[in-house]
Amino acid sequence: MKTLAASLTLATALAVMPQMAGAQDYPTQPITIVVPFTAGGPTDTVTRLVAQAMSADLGQQIVVENVGGAGGTLGAGRVAQAQPDGYTLLLHHIGMATSATLYRELPFNALEDFEYVGLVTEVPMVMVGRPDLEAETLEDVINFVREGGEDVMYANAGIGAASHLCGLLFMEAIDTQMTTIPYQGTGPAVTDLMGGQVDLMCDQTTNTTPQINEGSIKAFAVTVPERVESLPDVPTGAEAGIDGFEVSIWHGVYAPKGTPEEIVQRLSQSLQVALADETVIARFGDLGTVPSPAEDATPEALQAKVQSEIDLWRPIIEAAGVYAN
Ligand code: ASP
Repeated sequence: MKTLAASLTLATALAVMPQMAGAQDYPTQPITIVVPFTAGGPTDTVTRLVAQAMSADLGQQIVVENVGGAGGTLGAGRVAQAQPDGYTLLLHHIGMATSATLYRELPFNALEDFEYVGLVTEVPMVMVGRPDLEAETLEDVINFVREGGEDVMYANAGIGAASHLCGLLFMEAIDTQMTTIPYQGTGPAVTDLMGGQVDLMCDQTTNTTPQINEGSIKAFAVTVPERVESLPDVPTGAEAGIDGFEVSIWHGVYAPKGTPEEIVQRLSQSLQVALADETVIARFGDLGTVPSPAEDATPEALQAKVQSEIDLWRPIIEAAGVYAN
């Protein structure tokens, strides 16, 4: 018995040892961050900026991999099933919390299948239209949608994406449905909006500020209570006449459940360094994107955020009765 117990203890120690050694030396090989949307969109932009600064801090290459589709749930599912060794991470937005209600079945559980590294940003959304849309104000847009109904093409990044939520709130507020055109991320959607293939979309300022300022798309309202510094001429939803048209997007970094705590802490520290980096701050500022303060770039803050946002959005989504199967 004694021999069996001793060899079991040894076997356990041997199984744990490589992981512990890995944790101390981490990182010894390139890290992949999965973005659950296509390249060129706002989550991708945020990730690439942060990854560059984290890579400098960690002294290792960080590869960004885009796994778009199903409102971000495909990429999140991929990371939930990855090795918990700190070499595969996820950078996702509010969809991590809203998909918990929007999807009847998901390949992951937002509260059980991840280690939380920290919050990354807070980002407003903005309702935008194709450049030749005959509308100058949000009121004009509402009239356009009410007249056109399902002939109006609204682009989004699939059920559970921020662009979907924003459209949902808008359609609820004006009690009219549009036809939604799903993309695997809003990078390509904004290109189609500029080209006039779709009429409207609502996206993070990260992906729309340059196009609004150069006039290649029209902006009608931001979805936060105060005007956004990088878009001073764009009214808030309330100023433009719709109450309750408010949604603020946040991003977080996740690792698969079981990733050693030392690694999660190291990543969180590195995220804090990245968010204090002058280039990151300046670039985010140009795009109306607010970096999370150091105390929020922590596992505790992200875990609390995911839980509170699941609780916040569940009744809103259930009232709208929109689900993906
Ligand atoms: N902005 C997109 C959305 O949530 C996702 C992305 O492409 O980053 O709708």
